[in-house]
Amino acid sequence: MLSSSRSRGPRLTCRPRPPESFVLRGVRLFDPSLGLDQAGDLSIEQGRIAAVGEALSASAGAETVDHLAGCAVFPGFVDMHAHLRTPGQEYKEDLESAGRAAAAGGFVVVAGMANTSPAIDSGPLATWVLDQALESADVLVGQVGAVSRGLRGEELAELRELADAGVVAFSDDGRPIGDADLLLHALRYLRGTGRRVLLHLEERSLACDGAMHEGRWSARLGLRGIPSAAESGPLARDLELLRYTCREAAELGIEPVPLHVQHLSSAEAVRLVREAKAQGLPLTAEVTPHHLLLTDERVRSFDQSLKMNPPLRAESDRQVLVQGLVDGVIDCVATDHAPHAPHEKEVPFEEAPFGTVGLETAFAALYGGLVAPGRLGLGRLVSALSAAPSRCLGIEPPSLAVGAPAHFCVVDLGETWRVGVGDLEGKSRNSAFLGESVQGRVLMTVVDGSRRYVRGERHV
Ligand SMILES: [Zn+2]
Repeated sequence: MLSSSRSRGPRLTCRPRPPESFVLRGVRLFDPSLGLDQAGDLSIEQGRIAAVGEALSASAGAETVDHLAGCAVFPGFVDMHAHLRTPGQEYKEDLESAGRAAAAGGFVVVAGMANTSPAIDSGPLATWVLDQALESADVLVGQVGAVSRGLRGEELAELRELADAGVVAFSDDGRPIGDADLLLHALRYLRGTGRRVLLHLEERSLACDGAMHEGRWSARLGLRGIPSAAESGPLARDLELLRYTCREAAELGIEPVPLHVQHLSSAEAVRLVREAKAQGLPLTAEVTPHHLLLTDERVRSFDQSLKMNPPLRAESDRQVLVQGLVDGVIDCVATDHAPHAPHEKEVPFEEAPFGTVGLETAFAALYGGLVAPGRLGLGRLVSALSAAPSRCLGIEPPSLAVGAPAHFCVVDLGETWRVGVGDLEGKSRNSAFLGESVQGRVLMTVVDGSRRYVRGERHV
């Protein structure tokens, strides 16, 4: 069954608030997609960017905000990979707490993965989550639809119905798509929907019950390792399927469905992405802050917040990931925000669930770790956190252009801080960056022209 009929576009929802009118004085306006980097004022009216310039006069009734002078204003960040735990695991996170964590990190859009309980494998379930976000989330929530029913990898989920409900993409994240025929069929059925398939790459027969990267440190610590081939092996297979479906689509004169690689972790996988992109395949990729900044050596602390899937890998892998982000082979930064309750994480390392939270710290960890030392350009980081993931999800990128919806964040780039549990706004505390020194503090996040997060104030 090949279909080329157009589905409805992605649906993003958040709790509506009355738009505010205010002018930010003396800020640094920074939007790489506009080539904008200048000092000036920013005027917000009726939910939109009303003016950008010097010495703007506030309209009647508009508030003037002077105390953020000198701070940077960025188009709001977009996280295309988060686990919002709703429905079914609201003790770890819910849409309200995830929205709070996201806003505290400068995110204006967050896309929730489908591995909830139940999994989001039908249109009504996706609609239910997006309607919940309309009640409780302070940032825009998008939903990812499952590729397979119940994420079991046996038969396709209700793909067309999910697309019509407005999911932003499709993924069985949390689990790999082991069955090549299932992925092949998904790549055919999704033609014409404008959605891509996001890949969690994991060869389970290699990963087994590994707890960390297989290498020198797993041997030293006596922990079972997950070889990097568990990621690059299935990627090679899936790129062959992509190549095949591209040829098929070309013969039919229709657009192929792109693939997107989630949470790249290994040098081998980056090389495969680089080669496939050079060959013109429709492929995008993301990397997490923890894979860009931390390595397997850290696991010697046996801190369960450092246990994630894919695992933190070797320094040589990390260097290749950073280079991939610098030169654009890796398109996006995504957090893979994965909250877990203390009673789940505070068990022996081998038994702890995979995952770290990441929404609150993503920008500051990367600014402090890569931009401030001169390893990564600020423009590249902001693009990877905003315009690039927007393109992958098929949504309008947040922008500081006059007339655009006011979705932005304000950051004090000079503030260096040590991440503490008090900095985590979500329900869970399993952050790989606890105790780390980071730089750049989000002071305000604005969605649809209303202030959803102001540091030091709690918005209810
Ligand atoms: Zn995953």
